[in-house]
Amino acid sequence: MPFATIAKTGIATDGARLPDYARARRSFSWANARTQLAGLPGGALNIAHEALDRHLTTDLADKLALRIIGRDDAVQDFTYRRLAQESSRFADLLVRLGVRRGERVFTLLGRQAPLYVTALGTLKAGAVFSPLFAAFGPEPVLARVGKGDGRVLVTTEALYERKVAPVRAQLPGLRHVLLDGGCGPRAPAGALDFEAELARSAPDFAIVPTRPDDMALLHFTSGTTGKPKGAVHVHEAVVAHHITGQYALDLHADDVFWCTADPGWVTGTSYGIIAPLTNGATLIVDAAEFDAERWLRILQDQKVSVWYTAPTAIRMLMKLGVEPRRHYDLSHLRFMSSVGEPLNPEAVVWSMEAFGRPFHDNWWQTETGGIMIANYLTMDIRPGSMGKPLPGVEAAIVRRTADGGIVEIAEAGAVGELALRPGWPSMFRAYLDEPERYAKCFAQGWYLTGDLASRDGDGYFWFVGRADDVIKSAGHLIGPFEVESALMEHPAVAEAAAIGMPDPVAGETVKAFIVLKAGRAPDDGLRKEILGHARRRLGPAVAPREIAFRDGLPRTRSGKIMRRLLKARELGLPEGDLSTLESDSR
Ligand code: AMP
Repeated sequence: MPFATIAKTGIATDGARLPDYARARRSFSWANARTQLAGLPGGALNIAHEALDRHLTTDLADKLALRIIGRDDAVQDFTYRRLAQESSRFADLLVRLGVRRGERVFTLLGRQAPLYVTALGTLKAGAVFSPLFAAFGPEPVLARVGKGDGRVLVTTEALYERKVAPVRAQLPGLRHVLLDGGCGPRAPAGALDFEAELARSAPDFAIVPTRPDDMALLHFTSGTTGKPKGAVHVHEAVVAHHITGQYALDLHADDVFWCTADPGWVTGTSYGIIAPLTNGATLIVDAAEFDAERWLRILQDQKVSVWYTAPTAIRMLMKLGVEPRRHYDLSHLRFMSSVGEPLNPEAVVWSMEAFGRPFHDNWWQTETGGIMIANYLTMDIRPGSMGKPLPGVEAAIVRRTADGGIVEIAEAGAVGELALRPGWPSMFRAYLDEPERYAKCFAQGWYLTGDLASRDGDGYFWFVGRADDVIKSAGHLIGPFEVESALMEHPAVAEAAAIGMPDPVAGETVKAFIVLKAGRAPDDGLRKEILGHARRRLGPAVAPREIAFRDGLPRTRSGKIMRRLLKARELGLPEGDLSTLESDSR
């Protein structure tokens, strides 16, 4: 462990939502957590009611719920009351259109108001919300709307023309298309003007009394390893969104919270819509894409107090060598966290310098619906560790046996598959129409995550890699994260990705792809220097045998490095499903 534990001396923890981790774990129950929410008569529970309407009888009603910063910097504000009314109009519209409970409503929209209004209105109507990245092309749209049997799609005329029109004939179940920005000459027959329809709808709507286990959200997984699957989440998930927002993100009602994720990725829905609203916070949304200066300006100008982002963005900030604290007033920022990929220890150490506080890594997946393992405000951080399981979540390191059984590995530091004991409310309830695939995720009372990890003697969990990405070399099991983190300690390295290359002797050897920091040029001297550094840090058995310089790494829209794609290209194998591929510089 090259980096010392970061003690939180000097970082205010007064009023922390989780003052004592050990105590909370002992006394926690999901039934108790549920009592923080209002519910609806007769045991009904609806996410949108918890996020919006229940606040209307409290001081929160006229508080700022959502602020959307447009690409042009124009700001659009919604109080809790206004957002409740707009989403009720959308729910009313769905009912008028004859959309029934459980039917799917898709969005193909940028991070603009209609996306948020549709999400919450759909839930109010008892229909199922499924957000797509606006950048998806026709094939990914077809695959997802087709698989989800989408009944309604909210998009814009321009997006429709490019991404839906080419595949519309293959989507016979898609009955209604609503266009944000209105219906121009290229609108399809029968399309409706989103805003005009909303204006004709009633702003008060009796929320459908959904059952806790009614389907609410359909999220397609990011597909880092294969074809996207539709993970089904239910209304009861809101209990986990709410409580993990408190424990892992330390959300309070007076927080200004910025989750940088797009709702097309599960993080952007669970924490980019639901958790901040159920907790009465103000949610900031930026419609534009990553830009270092812009982001730091938003943190400053919006007085963001809690920030939830991803390692890719953090590495970009590191790469540009920005010094946030010198140029921006970030005095309101009190808690920073990161998810989606392993957060390299180097990034945590950098954040202490750059922001005066650490990034808190947390771990979860589309399937878990909410944060499962986290670093908490009141807990010391071990850079490179994803933290400890949430109260109410039991995690273990396990090994699959030859006969299909599961053995728990108690030994500290031993690597195995990360497993979770089902029972938390935001657990996925199905892969849509793929019961066998779903069943395969469970064995002997455990949910198997497909990630390899270890746990140290103090209960901190350490990510090793996706099981599919792990490199097996001369009897060693090498996690790409370990190699990448060591490479990133070299002052010239901005980003790194490690894969296994077939080798007749060792089975596999490590090859690393490296993106250099601004101002550093690749040459042979630097290659040797980085290889030498890696060998010293990792030892010759684990260090890359080979490195290649790249201008960028292929990654998913949610920011994850696609190691399987790097590998497929190196080996000339089929590239597989690329629907979630965002950036790509070969
Ligand atoms: P997704 O379902 O697209 O959110 O992807 C989930 C996967 O992302 C996990 O199974 C991990 O492989 C990876 N992941 C998410 N958060 C972390 C983290 N904090 N550290 C390491 N890997 C992570």
